[in-house]
Amino acid sequence: MVTVLQIFFVLLLIVIIILFVFRISKEHETIILSENYRELLNDYVKFYEQLDEQGKERFEERVKQFLSAVQITGVNAIVEDLDRLLIAAGAIIPVYTIPDWQYVNLHEVLLYPGAFNEDFDQGGSNRPIGGMVGTGAMQHVMIITKWQLRQGFINSNDTHNTAIHEFVHLIDKMDGTMDGVPEIILERKYVERWKNMMDSTIWQMKKNGSDIDMYGATNHAEFFAVISEYFFERPDLLKTNHPELYEMLERIYKTGR
Ligand SMILES: [Zn+2]
Repeated sequence: MVTVLQIFFVLLLIVIIILFVFRISKEHETIILSENYRELLNDYVKFYEQLDEQGKERFEERVKQFLSAVQITGVNAIVEDLDRLLIAAGAIIPVYTIPDWQYVNLHEVLLYPGAFNEDFDQGGSNRPIGGMVGTGAMQHVMIITKWQLRQGFINSNDTHNTAIHEFVHLIDKMDGTMDGVPEIILERKYVERWKNMMDSTIWQMKKNGSDIDMYGATNHAEFFAVISEYFFERPDLLKTNHPELYEMLERIYKTGR
């Protein structure tokens, strides 16, 4: 004879089993990084290497969050752990001081082996395409080449980092327009001053040349991406050579102490 109590226990057992199975499948969804991922970050990501222990833990947490939210797909390229870590690092460095930041406008990063040809307006510059953020049907997609991705981190003193460049475009684009003015993180009262600063620097670059990559003189969006690469790769040098730009970028990225 089956009692109400027995039925209750059977139901309880079923619920426990369901919860258990669900939990296992959830665990499988979490990103599993290779055991040596901290060493890889230390070896390749200067920004991470220079953080204190607490800062490193925060950075690692952000890496995991990013990799569980954004799919990274190889296109004729094998996605290695190092690639995933470097893409995540490029995403996190510019917004490291904004703890709850999410790239809501990014779902997938496509990793290509080398330079790719694309009918893409480069504004007359012959800088090879190493990355781009998608528009139209490619909305929410970023393309980056493995070669440029790695070079950006291996040469950490040259003011160039393609991953940071592309993620800065996404930050800029988050307010609806990719125009060099990241309204989502720049206080409104500084917008005019920032635009004037971009105009006058681009004008000077064209007139006299510059230690800033000339690709930055293409337009405001490229200027913002290029000067941000410089800011995160060589803050010391930017501060010496362009103190006003440095100060404004500190304001934009909230890195001022
Ligand atoms: Zn660009």
